[in-house]
Amino acid sequence: MQISKRLTGLTGGGSDGWGLFAKARAMVARGEAVTELTIGEHDIGTDPEILAAMDASARGGHTGYAAVPGTPALRAEIARRVAARTGVPTGPENVLVTPGGQAALFAAHMATCAPGDRALFIDPYYATYPGTLRGAGAEPVAVPARSRDQFQPRPAEIDARAEGARSLLINTPNNPTGVVYSPETLAGIAEVCRARDLWLVSDEVYDTQVWEGRHLSPRSLPGMAERTLVIGSMSKSHAMTGSRIGWIVGPPDAISHLANLATHTTYGVPGFIQDAALHALRQGTRLEEAIAAPFRRRREIALGLLAGQDIVRLIPAGGAMYLMLDIRATGLSGEAFAEALLERHRIAVMPGESFGTCAAGHLRVAMTVEDAAFAEALSTLMEFARECATCDAI
Ligand code: PLP
Repeated sequence: MQISKRLTGLTGGGSDGWGLFAKARAMVARGEAVTELTIGEHDIGTDPEILAAMDASARGGHTGYAAVPGTPALRAEIARRVAARTGVPTGPENVLVTPGGQAALFAAHMATCAPGDRALFIDPYYATYPGTLRGAGAEPVAVPARSRDQFQPRPAEIDARAEGARSLLINTPNNPTGVVYSPETLAGIAEVCRARDLWLVSDEVYDTQVWEGRHLSPRSLPGMAERTLVIGSMSKSHAMTGSRIGWIVGPPDAISHLANLATHTTYGVPGFIQDAALHALRQGTRLEEAIAAPFRRRREIALGLLAGQDIVRLIPAGGAMYLMLDIRATGLSGEAFAEALLERHRIAVMPGESFGTCAAGHLRVAMTVEDAAFAEALSTLMEFARECATCDAI
């Protein structure tokens, strides 16, 4: 029997970019010691307090069908958090609870794009983006963000591709680059969205991981609340990746249509997971800061180690749990460097090429192992880069 083109064409042709990750995992499965700096998964589990809340909720009977748009208490708590942090009036009617940010990204594009509509996104990108847009029936159109611009997208380049587009997807703090979009970049993006009548899908799942300054949600910019769908998640902020819980914040009319979509697709999120998320959010910034602290520390370690050399260039790392390293001075592609680093030193990092075309010659390093092992791996990487740049190490 035939599988629909919608699914067979989901990830486009060729490699899905995760070959190196799979190779490292296979080595680990064979019992080899590999330092894995690949995926965005914390090196801690979900906080025992959150698990206790989950357990109490489930044992208390919240195991049946839960309210599809989200429990009233959780929607209200998310709305309160968003309003307090962004200054934009937000109520439960602005919030849909979803099974993670990924499901929210898909739903947001179902809401904004008709089949065949152009949906803009920025390259380098979180690996699922083009497939998610295709899955929603849209035509993904990449807008380049360049290393020489510190991976800040240029509003004029977005505008140049906006003809016939319905939506623009951005992500700040950014995966894979670790870049936080500047207020000027966001103001320029908002201007293009208003001028071109675009929906802005703003993926803010790393909003609690900002190392300098504050997170700025573009929904708070003039005229943007009515055209922005914010993607949120408990995965990164509360180390709840496996719980699959996130949200969309947007205009009430869009949220009520999205709730209808949820009724016909996911049928919501388990009640005991929602109660655990509610408990976690009620802890406020204390818990969020504790969960972000290891990445903040490791970024400082990296800044110290990378100073005083110019072979490995760090893209200014403003947020998220990743560092983007420009290794073009070695003469190697990101893929060749990452392959060789894994083979010779048992250190796994993601080639920039896994995230589109614009991060070629770069590496994404996830800061997801304990401090000493992280420092050692980064030192080895730098030493290897120096060898590659100065002689024929490969
Ligand atoms: N958006 C970005 C930029 C991500 O990096 C991720 C996960 O790594 C997601 C969305 C999806 O997160 P989740 O579905 O776990 O909430």
